[in-house]
Amino acid sequence: MSHTAEIIAVGTELLLGNISNTNAQAISQSLSALGINVFWHTVVGDNPQRLKEALDIARRRADIIITTGGLGPTYDDLTKQTICEAFGQKLVFHPEILEDIRTFYETSLHVPMPENNTQQAELPERGVIFDNPVGTAPGCAFESGGVHVLMLPGPPHEMSTMLRRCAEPYLRSLSHEVIVSRDIMTFGMGESSVEELLRNQMTHMTNPTLATYAKPFEVRLRATAKAPTEEEARAMLDPVEKMVRDTLGDLVYGVDVTGLPEACLELLRARGLTLATAESCTGGMAAQRITAIPGASRVYRGGVVSYWTSVKGDVLQVPREILDTYGPVSEPCARAMAEGARRITGADIAVSVTGAAGPDPDERGVPVGIVYIGLAAPEGTFCRSLDLGRRRRDRIQGLAANHAFDVVRRYLSGLSI
Ligand code: ATP
Ligand code: MG
Repeated sequence: MSHTAEIIAVGTELLLGNISNTNAQAISQSLSALGINVFWHTVVGDNPQRLKEALDIARRRADIIITTGGLGPTYDDLTKQTICEAFGQKLVFHPEILEDIRTFYETSLHVPMPENNTQQAELPERGVIFDNPVGTAPGCAFESGGVHVLMLPGPPHEMSTMLRRCAEPYLRSLSHEVIVSRDIMTFGMGESSVEELLRNQMTHMTNPTLATYAKPFEVRLRATAKAPTEEEARAMLDPVEKMVRDTLGDLVYGVDVTGLPEACLELLRARGLTLATAESCTGGMAAQRITAIPGASRVYRGGVVSYWTSVKGDVLQVPREILDTYGPVSEPCARAMAEGARRITGADIAVSVTGAAGPDPDERGVPVGIVYIGLAAPEGTFCRSLDLGRRRRDRIQGLAANHAFDVVRRYLSGLSI
Protein backbone atom coordinates (compact mmCIF):
# COMPACT_ATOMS: atom_id res chain seq x y z
CA MET A 1 0.00 0.00 0.00
CA SER A 2 1.39 3.37 -0.81
CA HIS A 3 1.30 6.10 1.78
CA THR A 4 0.28 9.72 1.53
CA ALA A 5 1.90 12.28 3.74
CA GLU A 6 1.21 15.83 4.81
CA ILE A 7 3.85 18.02 6.40
CA ILE A 8 2.67 20.60 8.89
CA ALA A 9 5.21 23.23 9.84
CA VAL A 10 4.24 25.10 12.98
CA GLY A 11 5.55 28.60 13.60
CA THR A 12 4.35 32.17 13.29
CA GLU A 13 7.83 33.17 12.09
CA LEU A 14 7.20 31.12 8.95
CA LEU A 15 3.92 32.90 8.24
CA LEU A 16 5.48 36.31 8.77
CA GLY A 17 8.18 35.50 6.25
CA ASN A 18 10.94 35.82 8.82
CA ILE A 19 12.33 32.39 7.97
CA SER A 20 11.88 29.97 5.07
CA ASN A 21 10.32 26.58 5.52
CA THR A 22 13.51 24.64 4.90
CA ASN A 23 12.38 21.85 7.23
CA ALA A 24 9.47 21.01 4.93
CA GLN A 25 11.90 20.87 2.05
CA ALA A 26 14.22 18.50 3.91
CA ILE A 27 11.37 16.27 5.08
CA SER A 28 9.92 16.14 1.56
CA GLN A 29 13.27 15.10 0.13
CA SER A 30 13.54 12.32 2.62
CA LEU A 31 9.96 11.13 2.06
CA SER A 32 10.34 11.07 -1.68
CA ALA A 33 13.47 8.95 -1.30
CA LEU A 34 11.37 6.57 0.81
CA GLY A 35 8.70 6.42 -1.88
CA ILE A 36 6.09 8.17 0.23
CA ASN A 37 3.88 10.60 -1.67
CA VAL A 38 3.81 14.09 -0.21
CA PHE A 39 0.65 15.81 -1.42
CA TRP A 40 0.46 18.77 0.99
CA HIS A 41 2.69 21.22 2.82
CA THR A 42 0.82 23.21 5.43
CA VAL A 43 2.15 26.10 7.49
CA VAL A 44 0.29 27.22 10.57
CA GLY A 45 1.15 29.75 13.26
CA ASP A 46 1.70 29.06 16.96
CA ASN A 47 -2.02 28.91 17.55
CA PRO A 48 -3.70 25.80 18.99
CA GLN A 49 -7.08 26.39 17.36
CA ARG A 50 -5.68 26.79 13.86
CA LEU A 51 -3.28 23.89 14.36
CA LYS A 52 -6.25 21.77 15.36
CA GLU A 53 -8.09 22.78 12.19
CA ALA A 54 -5.02 21.90 10.12
CA LEU A 55 -4.83 18.50 11.83
CA ASP A 56 -8.51 17.82 11.16
CA ILE A 57 -7.98 18.44 7.47
CA ALA A 58 -4.70 16.52 7.32
CA ARG A 59 -6.02 13.35 8.99
CA ARG A 60 -8.79 13.09 6.40
CA ARG A 61 -6.48 13.24 3.39
CA ALA A 62 -3.19 11.76 4.56
CA ASP A 63 -2.17 8.68 6.50
CA ILE A 64 1.16 10.13 7.60
CA ILE A 65 1.31 13.53 9.26
CA ILE A 66 4.70 14.96 10.09
CA THR A 67 4.91 18.13 12.13
CA THR A 68 7.95 20.28 12.74
CA GLY A 69 8.30 23.01 15.35
CA GLY A 70 6.66 23.90 18.61
CA LEU A 71 8.17 21.16 20.74
CA GLY A 72 10.22 23.54 22.84
CA PRO A 73 9.68 24.61 26.43
CA THR A 74 8.15 28.05 25.89
CA TYR A 75 4.53 29.10 26.17
CA ASP A 76 4.07 29.24 22.39
CA ASP A 77 5.25 25.66 21.93
CA LEU A 78 1.91 23.91 21.76
CA THR A 79 2.29 21.25 19.10
CA LYS A 80 2.42 18.21 21.36
CA GLN A 81 -0.49 19.23 23.58
CA THR A 82 -2.68 20.17 20.63
CA ILE A 83 -1.95 16.98 18.70
CA CYS A 84 -2.58 14.80 21.72
CA GLU A 85 -5.89 16.52 22.33
CA ALA A 86 -6.90 16.15 18.69
CA PHE A 87 -6.05 12.44 18.64
CA GLY A 88 -7.29 11.64 22.13
CA GLN A 89 -3.87 10.75 23.49
CA LYS A 90 -2.84 11.29 27.09
CA LEU A 91 0.47 12.97 27.85
CA VAL A 92 2.57 11.05 30.31
CA PHE A 93 5.50 12.44 32.26
CA HIS A 94 8.78 10.52 31.84
CA PRO A 95 11.21 11.24 34.69
CA GLU A 96 14.11 9.54 32.86
CA ILE A 97 13.67 11.88 29.89
CA LEU A 98 13.71 14.88 32.18
CA GLU A 99 17.02 13.57 33.53
CA ASP A 100 18.39 13.32 29.96
CA ILE A 101 17.34 16.91 29.31
CA ARG A 102 18.91 18.03 32.58
CA THR A 103 22.15 16.27 31.64
CA PHE A 104 22.11 17.91 28.20
CA TYR A 105 21.81 21.35 29.82
CA GLU A 106 24.54 20.70 32.33
CA THR A 107 27.10 18.89 30.17
CA SER A 108 26.52 20.46 26.72
CA LEU A 109 25.14 23.92 27.46
CA HIS A 110 26.85 24.35 30.87
CA VAL A 111 23.81 25.96 32.44
CA PRO A 112 21.22 24.62 34.86
CA MET A 113 17.99 23.42 33.26
CA PRO A 114 15.17 25.98 33.44
CA GLU A 115 12.19 24.51 35.26
CA ASN A 116 9.73 25.04 32.39
CA ASN A 117 11.54 22.23 30.59
CA THR A 118 9.57 19.65 32.50
CA GLN A 119 6.82 19.78 29.89
CA GLN A 120 9.31 18.54 27.28
CA ALA A 121 9.45 15.28 29.24
CA GLU A 122 5.73 14.76 28.75
CA LEU A 123 5.06 12.47 25.83
CA PRO A 124 2.08 10.66 24.32
CA GLU A 125 1.02 7.60 26.23
CA ARG A 126 1.25 5.23 23.26
CA GLY A 127 3.83 5.18 20.50
CA VAL A 128 7.55 5.77 20.33
CA ILE A 129 9.89 8.47 21.56
CA PHE A 130 12.52 9.97 19.25
CA ASP A 131 15.47 11.12 21.31
CA ASN A 132 17.25 14.32 20.52
CA PRO A 133 21.01 13.96 20.91
CA VAL A 134 21.68 17.52 19.69
CA GLY A 135 19.02 19.46 21.58
CA THR A 136 16.53 19.18 24.38
CA ALA A 137 13.06 18.51 22.98
CA PRO A 138 12.48 14.85 22.16
CA GLY A 139 10.20 14.01 19.25
CA CYS A 140 7.67 11.22 19.10
CA ALA A 141 5.33 9.22 16.90
CA PHE A 142 2.12 7.30 17.36
CA GLU A 143 -0.56 5.67 15.28
CA SER A 144 -4.21 6.47 15.74
CA GLY A 145 -7.05 5.24 13.55
CA GLY A 146 -4.70 4.32 10.70
CA VAL A 147 -2.94 7.69 10.74
CA HIS A 148 0.70 7.94 11.78
CA VAL A 149 1.64 11.20 13.45
CA LEU A 150 5.32 12.11 13.79
CA MET A 151 6.46 15.20 15.71
CA LEU A 152 9.88 16.69 15.03
CA PRO A 153 11.49 19.78 16.55
CA GLY A 154 11.85 23.11 14.73
CA PRO A 155 15.58 23.92 14.83
CA PRO A 156 16.81 22.58 11.47
CA HIS A 157 19.86 20.79 12.84
CA GLU A 158 17.81 19.00 15.50
CA MET A 159 15.05 18.24 13.01
CA SER A 160 17.38 16.72 10.41
CA THR A 161 19.28 14.65 12.96
CA MET A 162 16.03 13.20 14.30
CA LEU A 163 14.67 12.72 10.80
CA ARG A 164 17.65 10.63 9.80
CA ARG A 165 18.08 8.69 13.03
CA CYS A 166 14.47 8.10 14.09
CA ALA A 167 11.79 9.20 11.62
CA GLU A 168 13.23 7.52 8.52
CA PRO A 169 13.59 4.09 10.21
CA TYR A 170 10.06 4.47 11.62
CA LEU A 171 8.65 5.26 8.16
CA ARG A 172 10.68 2.53 6.50
CA SER A 173 9.16 -0.01 8.86
CA LEU A 174 5.68 0.92 7.57
CA SER A 175 6.47 -0.49 4.15
CA HIS A 176 7.51 -3.91 2.93
CA GLU A 177 9.21 -2.49 -0.10
CA VAL A 178 12.53 -0.78 -0.58
CA ILE A 179 12.98 2.23 -2.77
CA VAL A 180 16.19 2.80 -4.68
CA SER A 181 16.94 5.92 -6.71
CA ARG A 182 19.62 6.69 -9.19
CA ASP A 183 20.53 10.23 -10.28
CA ILE A 184 21.57 10.53 -13.88
CA MET A 185 23.28 13.89 -14.33
CA THR A 186 23.22 15.78 -17.60
CA PHE A 187 24.64 19.03 -18.87
CA GLY A 188 24.19 20.87 -22.13
CA MET A 189 20.43 20.85 -22.65
CA GLY A 190 17.56 22.57 -20.86
CA GLU A 191 15.00 20.70 -18.78
CA SER A 192 12.18 20.99 -21.30
CA SER A 193 14.33 19.70 -24.17
CA VAL A 194 15.50 16.76 -22.06
CA GLU A 195 11.92 16.02 -21.12
CA GLU A 196 10.79 16.24 -24.70
CA LEU A 197 13.36 13.66 -25.79
CA LEU A 198 12.30 11.28 -23.04
CA ARG A 199 8.59 12.09 -22.85
CA ASN A 200 7.29 8.99 -24.63
CA GLN A 201 9.21 6.65 -22.38
CA MET A 202 8.58 8.67 -19.21
CA THR A 203 4.82 8.85 -19.46
CA HIS A 204 4.44 5.08 -19.65
CA MET A 205 6.58 4.36 -16.62
CA THR A 206 5.04 3.55 -13.25
CA ASN A 207 7.71 1.43 -11.57
CA PRO A 208 10.46 2.36 -12.07
CA THR A 209 9.70 6.03 -12.60
CA LEU A 210 11.83 8.70 -14.18
CA ALA A 211 11.57 12.39 -13.35
CA THR A 212 13.53 15.44 -14.43
CA TYR A 213 14.72 18.10 -12.00
CA ALA A 214 16.29 21.33 -13.13
CA LYS A 215 19.26 22.02 -10.92
CA PRO A 216 20.91 25.39 -11.32
CA PHE A 217 22.45 25.21 -14.81
CA GLU A 218 22.01 21.48 -15.35
CA VAL A 219 19.37 18.77 -15.38
CA ARG A 220 19.16 15.82 -13.07
CA LEU A 221 17.13 12.76 -14.00
CA ARG A 222 16.05 10.63 -11.10
CA ALA A 223 15.09 7.03 -11.73
CA THR A 224 13.31 5.37 -8.82
CA ALA A 225 12.31 1.73 -8.39
CA LYS A 226 10.31 -0.07 -5.70
CA ALA A 227 10.86 -3.77 -5.08
CA PRO A 228 10.88 -6.29 -2.24
CA THR A 229 14.71 -6.19 -2.07
CA GLU A 230 17.36 -3.61 -2.79
CA GLU A 231 18.98 -5.91 -5.32
CA GLU A 232 15.80 -6.26 -7.33
CA ALA A 233 15.20 -2.51 -7.25
CA ARG A 234 18.74 -1.87 -8.46
CA ALA A 235 18.34 -4.33 -11.30
CA MET A 236 15.17 -2.52 -12.40
CA LEU A 237 17.13 0.73 -12.74
CA ASP A 238 19.77 -0.61 -15.13
CA PRO A 239 17.54 -0.57 -18.23
CA VAL A 240 16.31 2.93 -17.34
CA GLU A 241 19.85 4.22 -17.14
CA LYS A 242 20.67 2.53 -20.45
CA MET A 243 17.62 4.09 -22.11
CA VAL A 244 18.60 7.56 -20.87
CA ARG A 245 22.19 7.11 -22.01
CA ASP A 246 21.04 5.86 -25.42
CA THR A 247 18.76 8.87 -25.80
CA LEU A 248 20.97 11.63 -24.42
CA GLY A 249 24.40 10.26 -25.35
CA ASP A 250 27.35 12.16 -23.95
CA LEU A 251 25.16 14.85 -22.38
CA VAL A 252 25.13 12.39 -19.46
CA TYR A 253 28.18 13.21 -17.41
CA GLY A 254 27.74 10.91 -14.46
CA VAL A 255 25.49 8.83 -12.25
CA ASP A 256 25.04 9.55 -8.55
CA VAL A 257 27.56 12.39 -8.61
CA THR A 258 26.65 15.75 -7.12
CA GLY A 259 27.79 18.00 -9.93
CA LEU A 260 30.18 18.73 -12.78
CA PRO A 261 33.08 19.85 -10.53
CA GLU A 262 32.93 16.50 -8.69
CA ALA A 263 32.85 14.63 -11.98
CA CYS A 264 35.94 16.58 -13.15
CA LEU A 265 37.73 15.96 -9.89
CA GLU A 266 37.12 12.21 -10.24
CA LEU A 267 38.37 12.19 -13.84
CA LEU A 268 41.48 14.20 -12.95
CA ARG A 269 42.24 11.91 -10.04
CA ALA A 270 41.79 8.78 -12.15
CA ARG A 271 44.14 10.16 -14.79
CA GLY A 272 46.65 11.59 -12.31
CA LEU A 273 46.37 15.08 -13.82
CA THR A 274 46.25 18.56 -12.31
CA LEU A 275 44.08 21.53 -13.21
CA ALA A 276 44.39 25.32 -13.07
CA THR A 277 41.87 28.07 -13.79
CA ALA A 278 41.96 31.59 -15.23
CA GLU A 279 38.74 33.45 -14.75
CA SER A 280 37.44 36.82 -15.75
CA CYS A 281 33.65 37.17 -15.80
CA THR A 282 33.11 34.33 -13.28
CA GLY A 283 35.33 36.06 -10.72
CA GLY A 284 36.68 32.87 -9.16
CA MET A 285 33.46 30.87 -9.16
CA ALA A 286 35.05 27.89 -10.89
CA ALA A 287 37.93 27.94 -8.38
CA GLN A 288 35.48 28.18 -5.50
CA ARG A 289 33.36 25.30 -6.74
CA ILE A 290 36.25 22.92 -7.16
CA THR A 291 37.92 23.85 -3.87
CA ALA A 292 34.60 23.31 -2.07
CA ILE A 293 35.10 19.58 -2.64
CA PRO A 294 37.18 17.75 -0.03
CA GLY A 295 40.34 16.37 -1.62
CA ALA A 296 40.52 19.10 -4.28
CA SER A 297 44.14 19.84 -3.39
CA ARG A 298 45.25 16.62 -5.04
CA VAL A 299 44.19 17.81 -8.48
CA TYR A 300 43.65 21.57 -8.36
CA ARG A 301 46.79 23.72 -8.39
CA GLY A 302 45.29 27.19 -8.33
CA GLY A 303 43.88 29.96 -10.42
CA VAL A 304 43.97 33.62 -11.33
CA VAL A 305 41.01 35.97 -11.21
CA SER A 306 42.12 38.29 -14.01
CA TYR A 307 39.31 40.76 -13.98
CA TRP A 308 41.16 43.78 -15.33
CA THR A 309 42.66 43.64 -18.78
CA SER A 310 45.99 44.65 -17.25
CA VAL A 311 45.94 41.53 -15.07
CA LYS A 312 45.27 39.37 -18.11
CA GLY A 313 48.39 40.93 -19.65
CA ASP A 314 50.66 41.28 -16.63
CA VAL A 315 49.86 38.09 -14.71
CA LEU A 316 48.59 35.66 -17.33
CA GLN A 317 50.90 37.06 -20.04
CA VAL A 318 48.16 37.43 -22.61
CA PRO A 319 50.01 39.17 -25.50
CA ARG A 320 49.35 42.88 -25.93
CA GLU A 321 48.43 42.39 -29.65
CA ILE A 322 45.64 39.97 -28.69
CA LEU A 323 44.19 42.36 -26.13
CA ASP A 324 44.43 45.33 -28.53
CA THR A 325 43.20 43.55 -31.64
CA TYR A 326 40.50 41.22 -30.31
CA GLY A 327 39.79 42.57 -26.83
CA PRO A 328 39.54 40.72 -23.51
CA VAL A 329 36.25 39.01 -24.43
CA SER A 330 37.42 37.03 -27.42
CA GLU A 331 38.46 33.56 -28.43
CA PRO A 332 42.17 34.45 -28.80
CA CYS A 333 42.14 35.97 -25.31
CA ALA A 334 40.43 32.90 -23.78
CA ARG A 335 43.03 30.66 -25.37
CA ALA A 336 45.92 32.83 -24.20
CA MET A 337 44.49 33.05 -20.66
CA ALA A 338 44.32 29.24 -20.42
CA GLU A 339 47.85 28.90 -21.80
CA GLY A 340 49.10 31.51 -19.33
CA ALA A 341 47.46 29.77 -16.35
CA ARG A 342 48.89 26.43 -17.44
CA ARG A 343 52.38 27.94 -17.81
CA ILE A 344 52.50 29.81 -14.51
CA THR A 345 50.97 27.05 -12.36
CA GLY A 346 52.61 24.08 -14.07
CA ALA A 347 49.26 22.28 -14.19
CA ASP A 348 48.64 19.62 -16.83
CA ILE A 349 45.56 21.41 -18.08
CA ALA A 350 44.08 24.86 -17.53
CA VAL A 351 40.65 26.20 -18.25
CA SER A 352 39.74 29.86 -18.75
CA VAL A 353 36.53 31.87 -18.81
CA THR A 354 36.08 35.32 -20.30
CA GLY A 355 32.77 36.87 -21.23
CA ALA A 356 30.26 39.68 -20.86
CA ALA A 357 28.07 38.94 -17.83
CA GLY A 358 26.11 42.16 -18.10
CA PRO A 359 23.93 43.95 -17.38
CA ASP A 360 25.74 46.23 -19.85
CA PRO A 361 27.81 45.20 -22.89
CA ASP A 362 31.56 45.24 -22.22
CA GLU A 363 33.58 48.36 -23.07
CA ARG A 364 34.12 47.15 -26.64
CA GLY A 365 30.41 46.56 -27.18
CA VAL A 366 30.48 42.75 -26.84
CA PRO A 367 26.84 41.81 -26.17
CA VAL A 368 25.75 40.38 -22.83
CA GLY A 369 25.96 36.60 -22.75
CA ILE A 370 28.94 36.16 -25.07
CA VAL A 371 31.38 33.85 -23.27
CA TYR A 372 34.55 32.05 -24.33
CA ILE A 373 35.94 29.02 -22.53
CA GLY A 374 39.58 28.18 -23.28
CA LEU A 375 41.34 24.92 -22.50
CA ALA A 376 45.11 24.54 -22.63
CA ALA A 377 46.34 20.94 -22.64
CA PRO A 378 49.49 19.09 -23.71
CA GLU A 379 47.89 18.38 -27.13
CA GLY A 380 47.13 22.03 -27.80
CA THR A 381 44.59 24.70 -26.96
CA PHE A 382 40.84 24.49 -27.50
CA CYS A 383 37.98 26.94 -27.22
CA ARG A 384 34.21 26.84 -26.81
CA SER A 385 32.31 29.97 -27.87
CA LEU A 386 28.93 30.57 -26.28
CA ASP A 387 26.04 32.92 -26.63
CA LEU A 388 24.16 32.54 -23.34
CA GLY A 389 21.71 35.31 -24.22
CA ARG A 390 20.52 38.22 -22.14
CA ARG A 391 20.15 36.43 -18.82
CA ARG A 392 20.70 37.77 -15.34
CA ARG A 393 24.32 38.38 -14.44
CA ASP A 394 24.47 35.62 -11.80
CA ARG A 395 22.90 33.14 -14.24
CA ILE A 396 25.47 33.92 -16.90
CA GLN A 397 28.25 33.52 -14.37
CA GLY A 398 26.96 30.20 -13.01
CA LEU A 399 26.31 28.81 -16.44
CA ALA A 400 29.73 29.93 -17.69
CA ALA A 401 31.44 28.23 -14.73
CA ASN A 402 29.54 25.02 -15.48
CA HIS A 403 30.58 25.23 -19.13
CA ALA A 404 34.19 25.49 -17.98
CA PHE A 405 33.82 22.22 -16.06
CA ASP A 406 31.97 20.65 -18.97
CA VAL A 407 34.85 21.52 -21.29
CA VAL A 408 37.27 19.91 -18.82
CA ARG A 409 35.20 16.76 -18.43
CA ARG A 410 34.69 16.37 -22.17
CA TYR A 411 38.41 16.79 -22.80
CA LEU A 412 39.25 14.23 -20.10
CA SER A 413 36.66 11.82 -21.48
CA GLY A 414 38.04 12.09 -25.02
CA LEU A 415 34.92 13.84 -26.36
CA SER A 416 34.77 16.80 -28.70
CA ILE A 417 34.74 20.13 -26.88
P1 ATP B 1 12.84 25.17 20.56
O1 ATP B 1 13.18 24.15 21.57
O2 ATP B 1 14.06 25.83 19.97
O3 ATP B 1 11.76 26.13 20.97
P2 ATP B 1 10.82 24.04 18.81
O4 ATP B 1 10.68 22.60 18.41
O5 ATP B 1 9.81 24.60 19.73
O6 ATP B 1 12.30 24.27 19.33
P3 ATP B 1 10.25 26.31 17.23
O7 ATP B 1 10.24 27.09 18.49
O8 ATP B 1 9.01 26.21 16.45
O9 ATP B 1 10.80 24.85 17.48
O10 ATP B 1 11.41 26.83 16.26
C1 ATP B 1 12.73 27.02 16.73
C2 ATP B 1 13.55 27.63 15.62
O11 ATP B 1 13.73 26.67 14.61
C3 ATP B 1 12.88 28.81 14.91
O12 ATP B 1 13.17 30.03 15.49
C4 ATP B 1 13.47 28.72 13.53
O13 ATP B 1 14.71 29.38 13.49
C5 ATP B 1 13.67 27.25 13.32
N1 ATP B 1 12.56 26.66 12.58
C6 ATP B 1 11.34 26.31 13.06
N2 ATP B 1 10.57 25.78 12.12
C7 ATP B 1 11.28 25.79 10.98
C8 ATP B 1 11.02 25.36 9.63
N3 ATP B 1 9.85 24.81 9.28
N4 ATP B 1 12.00 25.51 8.71
C9 ATP B 1 13.17 26.06 9.09
N5 ATP B 1 13.49 26.48 10.31
C10 ATP B 1 12.56 26.36 11.27
MG1 MG C 1 9.99 26.81 20.36
